[in-house]
Formats: sequence, C-alpha cells, structure tokens
Amino acid sequence: MKDDAAQELLSSKHLCILPWLHAAVWTDGRVIPCCINQDYVFGHTHQSGLDEALDSPAANAFRVEMLRGRLPASCYRCSQPEAEFGSLSYRQDMNRRFQHHADLIRKTDSDGRRQVRRSVYLDVRFSNLCNLACIMCDEVNSSLFAQKERAAGRYDGPTLRRAFGKPEDFWKFFDDHIGEFEEIYFCGGEPILLAEHEDLLKRLIRAGRTQVHLRYNTNLTRLAAGSSSTSVLELWAKFERVSVQASIDAYGELATIIRRGSDWRQIEDNLRAVHQLSRNVAGVSLVITPTVQILNALHLLDLYRHLRSVDALGDSMVSPNLLMFPSHFSIQNLSDDDKQRVVTAWDQLAGLANQAPEGAHLRSRLTEMKAYMMLQASREEEILRLRSWLDQTSAQGANEVLKLAGLRLSNSPHANAQRDGR
Ligand code: SF4
Repeated sequence: MKDDAAQELLSSKHLCILPWLHAAVWTDGRVIPCCINQDYVFGHTHQSGLDEALDSPAANAFRVEMLRGRLPASCYRCSQPEAEFGSLSYRQDMNRRFQHHADLIRKTDSDGRRQVRRSVYLDVRFSNLCNLACIMCDEVNSSLFAQKERAAGRYDGPTLRRAFGKPEDFWKFFDDHIGEFEEIYFCGGEPILLAEHEDLLKRLIRAGRTQVHLRYNTNLTRLAAGSSSTSVLELWAKFERVSVQASIDAYGELATIIRRGSDWRQIEDNLRAVHQLSRNVAGVSLVITPTVQILNALHLLDLYRHLRSVDALGDSMVSPNLLMFPSHFSIQNLSDDDKQRVVTAWDQLAGLANQAPEGAHLRSRLTEMKAYMMLQASREEEILRLRSWLDQTSAQGANEVLKLAGLRLSNSPHANAQRDGR
C-alpha cells in the first residue's frame, strides 16, 4: 500500500519529484531541473559547486512554486502533453519511478529549502563530445554538429563544451553522494565516448555500488569505453541493471542522412552485440528508441521489420520518442495525405507488435503520437524552413532527402511549386 506522501505525489498535477532528488547538469555547466527543462537555471557549475546550485535561491523558488500549487511555466514540456493529448509526461513517469522518496517533498521549508539533501538520480552531460552531427541536433549537444556549423559560417561559438571547468568539483560531489544514487542517466554528446563515463563506472565498481541502475541514451556507434580499449560491454556485465536505449531512427541510407557521420553496418553489429549481452546477463536490457520526426515517420514500420529480419532486435522493446523541437522537424508538418499514410503504417506496426513484449507500450506510444500529429495542421513556413535546412546541411539536398523519406509534405500550391522547382 502506498503511503500518503506517495499518493499525494502521484495524484498531483503540480508536483514533480525531480527538484527534490535530481542533479541534472547540461554540457555548458547549467544546473537545470531536468533534461527537458533547460529554460530554468538553478545555477552554473562554472560559478558554484553542484550542491550549492541544487539549493540555490532559484532552485528554492522553483520548489516553492510547486508547493503553492503551480507547475512552473518552464515545465511546459510536461504540462502541454498532459493537457493537450493526454500522454504520460516525463513528470508523471519520474513521480512513478521515485515515489518511494515522496517524503522529501514534505521535508521542505516554506522558502523551498530542502531539509534533506538526497541525490538519487544523476544526469550529468559531461561534455558535448559526439562523433555524429544528427540533422536535428544542435551545437550544445554535439561537438561535431558545432564543428560543421562553424565550418559553414553559421555559428561562431565553442565546439567542445565541458560541464565542469575543474573535473574534481564533480568528483567531490560524486564521492559525497555515492551511497545515495539509485539511477544514473548517460546521454550526449555520445556518452560511451567520454572518459568521464568510463571513470564513473569504474568508481562505482570499486565502491561496490553496482546496484545503481545505469540508463543510456546512445547512438551505439562505438562500444569501446572512453579512449581506452575496454569494451563497455565488460563494464556493463558487472552491474545489476543496465538499460540501453539505442537512438536508431531508420536503417540504411536514411539512417546515415538523419544521423550524419554514422555507419549503418557498424550500428547493426553493435546492436547484435548488445542484444547478445542482454541474453547472457540478466540485468542488461536493450530498447530501440527512434526519435520520431518528419523524415522517419513513414519508416518506423520498415525499421521494425528490418531489425527483426537481421536478428538485431530479439526481445528488445521499441519505444519511440516524439520530437517536438526543432519545430520544422515535427510530424505535425506532414501533409494530410502523408498523415493518413503514417496512420496506416503505424496501425500495421501496432498489429505486428501485438504479440511482442512491447505490444501494449508501443501501441499506446503510437496512439499518443497520432494525437499529437493531428493536433496541428502543417505550416508552410515550417516546411520552407525544413527545406532550406536540408539544402544547407545534407549532401543530397532537400528534394532528394524528402524523396528518400517518401514525403509529399505540403498540400499548398506554393510549397508544391517550390518542391517541384517551378
Ligand atoms: S515537471 Fe517536467 S519539466 Fe518540470 S522539472 Fe519535472 S520533469 Fe522537468
């Protein structure tokens, strides 16, 4: 039976457990409430310690707003999906996951100060070092994307960003809280490339903290940890629970267009290797997490069939993530015709996955994504932005990429004329 604090948290529309137990640091050192709220900043690791930032006046004010019955405006990526298309928000997911710490919320002073500082969930993006420049990414999250933008003269900021000016500041925080961590999320840049990631895993192993749940969002282009020759698979095998979310959006040529710099054959080999590990080591699981956007919406079914056909999926789940930003990549910009074709393909996918372990989950994700897609009609200015971006960033150019994606895009005569070069 759930206690009162957990009940209150789970039924609340304005409480989120994360500002009480989460430490989230972006690649530029911003300490933020969570990875989907980068607008509100608690502090900055280049200006203060991480502990200090998590209890800064800004962090306290954020908690106070929730305690007063309002979800902060910067949490729109949770409030919007909850209100507009009834899907499970990140807030609701996190509240469910960490409900056993709901007591922390009651142990808060009226000015938002935490009486108990418990760092349970860590998400530190040590750097934006990445070997890919995905077409929908940005300079903050990928060093290669930043390099390409600099070379094209569209960006003049730093290419490599580091969350901590002095790495020892992070390791002090880590050592102080090592007994509290329950879950650590590794995301990009590309986490497996990072020396800090390898170091962190080795520290957990040395401290006997192998029960910490490791969760990854990885492009799975490499399995060698950091700069060493140690395979990340060897390290993962020492942990009780490792959840690998592989960001794979399509296969073959479309995959390499979306995830610029990737080699599809290598990814397929790595997928098989992780899949094999998940068969041999009970706590390791693999989930394919396609980022669903305008270029791959029509290809999810093909991707699913292909992964099954090359034995790269096994019992793994497929759990699509919906891309909302940048907005010109949104599936809302599909033409009415294309939306109908997507609905047909996704219904087929739901039927195919019916017997698979992920059936129920995948069906509900597809239903939510369809609702989101239908919420807004295609906007011509967004399509023009997409075309312009594809012309600037892909060797094939917009027409060829859109053809590969199988899209018609806009019903409007103006955009159709543009598409056809008239
Ligand atoms: S409500 Fe959503 S956006 Fe706000 S901190 Fe929680 S998970 Fe993040």
